[in-house]
Amino acid sequence: MKFIRFAVNYETLTGVLQDEMIREIKGNIFGNWEYTGSTFALNKVKPLAPLMPNQIIGIGANYVMKVEDLPSDLPEIPVFFFKPTSSVIGPEEEIVIPAGIDQVKFESELAVIIGKEAKNVPEEEVLDYVFGYTVANDVTAPQFFHKDGHWTVGKSFDTFTPLGPVIETELDPFQVSIEARLNNEEKQNSSTELMIIPIRKMISYLTNVMTLKPGDVILTGSPVGAEFVHSGDVIECVIKEIGTLKNTFVSSKESVY
Ligand code: MG
Repeated sequence: MKFIRFAVNYETLTGVLQDEMIREIKGNIFGNWEYTGSTFALNKVKPLAPLMPNQIIGIGANYVMKVEDLPSDLPEIPVFFFKPTSSVIGPEEEIVIPAGIDQVKFESELAVIIGKEAKNVPEEEVLDYVFGYTVANDVTAPQFFHKDGHWTVGKSFDTFTPLGPVIETELDPFQVSIEARLNNEEKQNSSTELMIIPIRKMISYLTNVMTLKPGDVILTGSPVGAEFVHSGDVIECVIKEIGTLKNTFVSSKESVY
């Protein structure tokens, strides 16, 4: 099932996308919801980020180029970071490159949406707590990575977390490829089997640290091939089974400081 959030007539609505038609729903997608009976043509509405996350957690440097490169020993403490929910935008919205920043990268990623409160969940049970999946672009300004190691500033600018176009609840996350096309040229295309810390292990680890809640979004890392971009560049992050998340980079006229 594909859940979508969208704007029409200045209202924000939620629905289930079937082919090119949206059936509006009301209620909580993580709990009880029902169809309202209203339908909308997809091409007559403005798709939004498919949820407003409760919190956003990313993992760094999580892909190798080929299976033979996968390490036999996993890092003891994975590199996790938070992104602010204020950085979320939807499909077709502009990603703003802040003034004073000349190095911004796209990072196409599979985003996991948590559906149930999860604490101390063993790896084998992790997927029972997953509601669905969407596509994320973990936009990054590495020149703002702190020299002592933390990445927060470089990950946190407004518009730096495009999400969408839908939440797919029936995805097999182990059978998909994460792709990115920059100005129509393929830059990333890797299967999720190239993840260093696999999804079950990543989420189980997190639940041993913190309680995950419905609406938490976990960005599972970006394949090899992310590049720096410029104003006017069009980035499409693609997971075929979910859809294409397309955004354009623009320069800000305002100063960062
Ligand atoms: Mg990333």
